[in-house]
Amino acid sequence: MAGAELIGREELAEIQDLFSGDKVNLYRYGGGNYKARELEERFAEYMGVKYAHAVSSGTAAIHCALAGAGIGPGDEVITTAWTFIAPVEAISALGALPVPVEIDETYHLDPAEVEKAITPATKAVVAIPMWASPKMAEIAGICEKYDIMLIEDAAQALGATYRGRKLGTIGKVGSFSFDAGKTMHTGEGGIIVTDDKDIYDRAAEFSDHGHMHLDGLPRGKDPRRAKGLNLRLSEVTAAIGLAQLAKIDLILLKSRENKKRIKDAIRHIDNIMLRPFSDENGSQGDTLIFRVRDREAALQFEAHLMERGFGTKILPEALDWHFAGVWSHLLPEYDRYKGIDLETLWPKTGTMLRSSICLNIPVLMDDVIIEKLVEAIITGAKEIG
Ligand SMILES: *Cc1c(COP(=O)(O)O)cnc(C)c1O
Repeated sequence: MAGAELIGREELAEIQDLFSGDKVNLYRYGGGNYKARELEERFAEYMGVKYAHAVSSGTAAIHCALAGAGIGPGDEVITTAWTFIAPVEAISALGALPVPVEIDETYHLDPAEVEKAITPATKAVVAIPMWASPKMAEIAGICEKYDIMLIEDAAQALGATYRGRKLGTIGKVGSFSFDAGKTMHTGEGGIIVTDDKDIYDRAAEFSDHGHMHLDGLPRGKDPRRAKGLNLRLSEVTAAIGLAQLAKIDLILLKSRENKKRIKDAIRHIDNIMLRPFSDENGSQGDTLIFRVRDREAALQFEAHLMERGFGTKILPEALDWHFAGVWSHLLPEYDRYKGIDLETLWPKTGTMLRSSICLNIPVLMDDVIIEKLVEAIITGAKEIG
C-alpha cells in the first residue's frame, strides 16, 4: 500500500548513511543526531508550515498534538464516528471526553452535527480526513464562531488538499502516521505539523517526558513544565522517512492516475454510488469508496471481489475498528455512553458504512491488474442486481 510498496534501495542508503560516521548514533537526542531533524525540516517544507515534530507513531502524533494544544480532563473533543480509533484513544488518554458525531455524504464530519454537539465544555474539533477532505470551510467557520480549536488527524491524507490547502495545515495543528497502510511508510512513525510555536514546543515536550529542549542547556539540566511520555522517533526510522518523503510526489501521482482510470471505467454503473467529495481534485488516490444498496449487497460484493483476488480496505470488513458504534471497550468508561446501545447513537453512519465498499488503490498497478479490478467491480455490480 502506497509508500510501503516502494521501500527499497533509497531507504537502505539513508540507513547506511546513518552508519557511515565515526560514531553511530541511533538516538534522536544523542550527540550529532541529524536524521530526525532533517526529516522534520523537509516535512515542514513539504507541508508549508513553520514547525514539524516527528514521533514514534501516528497515534503518538495525535496524542502529542492534542497534548500540545492543551486538551485535558474536563474537555470535550468532537470528532467523527468513522475513524481509525487512535484519535479517540488519544483523547481518552488525556482524560478528555471523546464526542463522535455522524458523518455526512462525503464520509466525513457533518458540519451540522458538529454544531449540534457543541457545549460549553467543548475545547476542540478533530477533523479526520479519510483520503479526502471534510467540509473544512464550514467546520472552520463553526470553530471560529464558538471559539473552539480545530485540529486535524490527517494520518490518512498526506498530500491531499482542500481548495488548494494541504490537509493537516488548515487546523491549529495536524498529525500524520507513517504506518504500513499510510501514504509514507517507515515501519512505525508519525509527525505533527503546526505554525504555532507554543503548540509545537508543548507537543515536543510531551513526546519526551516534558524535557524543554532549551538551547544551551545539556539534556537533564533542562526544566519541565508539564508531564509527558516517551514517544520519540529513532534516527533509523527518520532515515527511512527521508527516503520515503522523497518519493511522495510519485506515490500521489501514480495512485491518483490509477484511481482515475478505475473510476472512469465504472462511473456508468447505476447500482453503485461513488462517494461524493467536498473537493475531488484534492483527494488522495489510494482509496476508492462506493455505496451499494444495503449491507447484504456490500457483503456479497466483497465476497465477489475476494474470489477475484481483491481485498477491501476497512469497509466493510474492518468496520469494527473504525466505527464508534462498536467501541464498547472504550466509550462506556464515560457516563455519557454507559449502558447505552452504542449503535443507536450513530445510525446514519452505521448504515452508510455497512453498505459501503472501500478499495485500496496501489501505486504499482499494471494495465492487466487495473482491467481485472474493473471487471471484478462490473461483474460484482451485476451480481448484486
Ligand atoms: C493510522 C491512523 C492513526 C494511527 O497511526 P499509527 O501510526 O498506526 O499509530 C491515527 N489516526 C488515523 C486517522 C489513522 O488512520
